[in-house]
Amino acid sequence: MTAYGSSNNRRITGSAECAGNMTRHGRTVQTDHLRYGHSSKTRIPEFKLGVARLSGEGLRNVQTSEQRRLVRIASAMNTKARKLGTYGVVSSVELAMKPSECAYCGVTLEPGQGTFDHRLAFARGGHNVSANVVRCCITCNREKFDKTPSEFKEHQVLVSICTVCGNQFQPRWAEWQAGRARTCSRSCAAKSRWA
Ligand SMILES: [Zn+2]
Ligand SMILES: [Zn+2]
Repeated sequence: MTAYGSSNNRRITGSAECAGNMTRHGRTVQTDHLRYGHSSKTRIPEFKLGVARLSGEGLRNVQTSEQRRLVRIASAMNTKARKLGTYGVVSSVELAMKPSECAYCGVTLEPGQGTFDHRLAFARGGHNVSANVVRCCITCNREKFDKTPSEFKEHQVLVSICTVCGNQFQPRWAEWQAGRARTCSRSCAAKSRWA
C-alpha cells in the first residue's frame, strides 16, 4: 500500500491537515514526511531555497558541486554544535558569502578550495554563528586547531632552539605550553633521552 496509489486511500495532499500521525493497518505512523504530498511538491529544505534564491535560477535549479559542498560543511557544523550544545546555526548561503582569501594567511582560494573554521573554537567558548566563521586554507586550519586567534598568532612566530642539534624549529603548541618543546624531531628527542 502506498500513500498515493490506489483510489480507496485518501490521497495525501499538500494540506496541513495531513501533518502528524495517521492510522494504517492499526498502527499509528508518522506522516510528517508526507505532508507536502507528491514528489512534485516535495518540501525543499530551507538551505536549498536559500542557495537557489542566491543563484537566481529558480527553485528547481541543480546545485553546483560547490553549493553541495557548502551545504555539507554547514550541516556538519550545525550537527557538531547541536551535539556539543553550542549556540547558533550557520547556513550554506552565509558560507558562500565569505571572502575568497584565507582569513589567516591571505592566500587566494578558488571555489572548492580551503575550508571554514570557527575563529573561536567551540572548545574555547566560541559560538556556531556566521560572525565566528571564517574561510581559510587547509594548512592554516590544521595549524590553528582549537587555538584562539591570539594564540595562533603567537604560535606562528614561535621559534625554539633544539637542545640536541641546535637547529631552530617551530615547537608544537601543546608541548611548548607544557614546557616540553626541547627537541626538533623524534630522532633528537631519542638522542636526548639516551644522552
Ligand atoms: Zn591560510
Ligand atoms: Zn634537533
